[in-house]
Amino acid sequence: VDSDPPLSKLLKVVEDGKATRKSGQSVVYWMRMGDLRISDNRALSLASAHAKKSNIPLVVVFMLSPQDYLAHDRGARRIDFTLRNLALIKESLGTLHIPLHVVTQPNRRTLPQAVIALVEELDASAIYANIEYEVDELRRDTQVCKAAKSKGIGAILVHDKCVVEPGVVETKQNRAYSVYTPYQKVWLTKLNADIPHFLENCSKPHPNSESVRKTAKFAKLFDSEVPESVSGFEMDPADHTKMEQVWPAGETAANDILLRFLRTKSRSSQLGAVDPLAAGAEDSSKRSRISVYDAERDRADKDTTSRLSPYLAAGVISARACVRATLPPNTNTNKAAATTVDGGKTTGVGRWVQEVAWRDFYVNILAAFPRVSMGRPYLEKYALVVWEGPALEDAYADEPGRPISEAEIARAASNIEKWKSGHTGYPIVDAGMRCLNEMGYLHNRLRMIVAMFLTKDLMIDWRVGEKYFMEKLMDGDLASNNGGWQWCASTGVDPCPYFRIFNPHSQSTKADPTGDFIRRHVPELSSVRGPDLHNPPALVADKLGYPRPIVKHDEARVRALRRFKDPGTA
Ligand code: FAD
Repeated sequence: VDSDPPLSKLLKVVEDGKATRKSGQSVVYWMRMGDLRISDNRALSLASAHAKKSNIPLVVVFMLSPQDYLAHDRGARRIDFTLRNLALIKESLGTLHIPLHVVTQPNRRTLPQAVIALVEELDASAIYANIEYEVDELRRDTQVCKAAKSKGIGAILVHDKCVVEPGVVETKQNRAYSVYTPYQKVWLTKLNADIPHFLENCSKPHPNSESVRKTAKFAKLFDSEVPESVSGFEMDPADHTKMEQVWPAGETAANDILLRFLRTKSRSSQLGAVDPLAAGAEDSSKRSRISVYDAERDRADKDTTSRLSPYLAAGVISARACVRATLPPNTNTNKAAATTVDGGKTTGVGRWVQEVAWRDFYVNILAAFPRVSMGRPYLEKYALVVWEGPALEDAYADEPGRPISEAEIARAASNIEKWKSGHTGYPIVDAGMRCLNEMGYLHNRLRMIVAMFLTKDLMIDWRVGEKYFMEKLMDGDLASNNGGWQWCASTGVDPCPYFRIFNPHSQSTKADPTGDFIRRHVPELSSVRGPDLHNPPALVADKLGYPRPIVKHDEARVRALRRFKDPGTA
């Protein structure tokens, strides 16, 4: 564990302030970008119980912080998804006479003061929020809690993001696991040991009294609108319409997507032709997708995974609700003793639950080793790996530089652009990157293939890819994204060993055996069938206007092996 991680500091400040309870005229729940829901929301539920007990109104606030979005590489699509969800939440809360007040805070540095000023203006006795585990957010919240305490306002921050909260799954020496398999075993044991608690849905907020709407202090909050866009993050209208259809906002949409994954074979019935992601070959059997998840989850040409990640990342659905939904129908707390979550490897359900546990694992890593999100490799020995092109600014300012020729700088920049736009001459990589650019989403196996290609074939710093994914992904999440990139770059916790370098051609035949995925996203190759699709001969590529490979995989592999075996040598 990194020394004195910011999560420990925050938890200590929250603990210190526990006794702080001033009487006030409201209770505030501070909703953030990762908990955009009303159901099964711990902080919201606790805030509501407090308000009801004290017979004062509950107010929900959301602070839009464009500088944060810029600093954290958020793209316009993700901001738009946030706003679309907020608009629906405002409507639902309105039926309970609970105002949602959205405030734009131009300066991220003064956000803690702005939050406290708002809480004081609302004369709140306490502010509640779910913990965000990113370093900047933890530091910000620590400031908020300290300021709240100094003013006698309660600040209650609780774990909500994970199925099993960070810090609970530990080794016998009370350390964080850095290897997934033992982590997952203990994770499952802890979960099943406390199944009644896990099954308990956090209660939905109680309605405020209708008279709140007429109270001078609160009436204006009901009238305030959720903005349609945030300056600097405007969307192209056609893309906006497409994203609305492919990733509809709201808890109902998220639940529908979950149920479709658990019970039916395809998501395309909902989205049809609009969603090229779901257009894969239809399975004529009656099996649900989750039942064949173990066997088929690596197929990018089929509709095999849940595609819930944008909803989980934005907290539109809770991870707990996803795992609960895998339990037999009619499971309730009375039968809880007889119920266990299936996290074994051999079933579709078991394998899917394990994937959700990966999400928890990476949050746990972020909380215990915050340096991983600050540009550092988890395995420090790989900080010296020689990447192509100039070092990223501030990422490794303390690492020795090396002379880099103008030609190398230009070549690296050109390769990065070709990778981003999907013009590397490797069809599976190009299809993956074009899918990411078009849909804001990419199948997990494809994420691995394109990330491995960038870091091993092109020897480009993984932080370049991490940043680009964050900008483009609808499900961009620092913990999972950093974990995924460091896995592929062999620098992370429990990583892919550096000598296991994916061959993009053989990966292509496994992930896309029908070729449907490549043909869908690389129209130049839409007429190609058979093995040529995965590795087009030069004459075929030239004829179809498809690029020749920008690197030779065999040569690139040797270079990567050399540089990883002996970090520091070129
Ligand atoms: P399913 O297969 O249906 O899995 C269910 C849920 O489990 C997912 O929605 C997700 O929340 C979680 N999950 C599944 N696999 C993983 C995994 N390997 N790591 C962590 N959680 C997982 N996931 C993100 O949510 N946000 C990211 O920014 C992100 N970046 C990634 C970057 C790279 C380089 C790699 C290799 C993986 C990344 N992942 C990320 C993990 C994974 O690719 C996606 O979660 C998954 O593809 C989402 O599709 P799905 O919802 O259909 O997943």
